[in-house]
Amino acid sequence: MKRRGILIVISGFSGAGKGTLVKELLKNYDNYALSVSMTTRQPRPGETDGKDYFFVTREAFEEKVSQDGFIEYASYCGNCYGTPRDYVEEQLAAGKDVILEIEIQGALQVKKKNPQTLLLFVTPPSGEELKRRLVNRKTETEEVINQRMARAVEESAGIEQYDYLVINDDLAECTVQTHQLIQAAHATPDRNQDFIRKIRRELGEL
Ligand code: 5GP
Repeated sequence: MKRRGILIVISGFSGAGKGTLVKELLKNYDNYALSVSMTTRQPRPGETDGKDYFFVTREAFEEKVSQDGFIEYASYCGNCYGTPRDYVEEQLAAGKDVILEIEIQGALQVKKKNPQTLLLFVTPPSGEELKRRLVNRKTETEEVINQRMARAVEESAGIEQYDYLVINDDLAECTVQTHQLIQAAHATPDRNQDFIRKIRRELGEL
């Protein structure tokens, strides 16, 4: 019986190292597909359209909303972000585990519509370390860093709504741990209902 892909949401404070963690998962294991979001934010130096994000105007974003083209969307620090529906559905049907790297409002929308979604929250080991990572990234102004730190305080209130907390201290360890959590999620009864129906039928026939 073909294993169905699961939808995985990875959230965490800006600067927690989610992007790096996701890159490591994609590099080290072959069962993952990463959804590329659409955003109205300006590209940062080094970001590529179609790879990091689909960078669009607010009008184009709103048009996609009106076509029901997102599985979720939200606004974050003044910009809009959304997950295009088609890619996610194609990859799940092909048996891939699809990763969405999105913030909490979107995460909760996805979980509500699809309760089998696995929600992971990534955090650095301390608040100080978060600030240090944001400053060292050198891609944001001080004002944006402060905005993102304030947002982190708000987001920390929602951590209990996630299925697992992943502390990103050592990247290699964190990658293995995340992969193991996802593998364990594949073994829960609610994600194996087809198999359970099949074995019950077979048992009934013997
Ligand atoms: P950044 O501007 O740093 O790339 O992203 C800001 C926040 O938006 C991050 O927490 C990121 O995970 C989140 N984000 C990125 N894409 C999406 C999306 O499609 N939907 C939602 N809800 N959040 C997103």
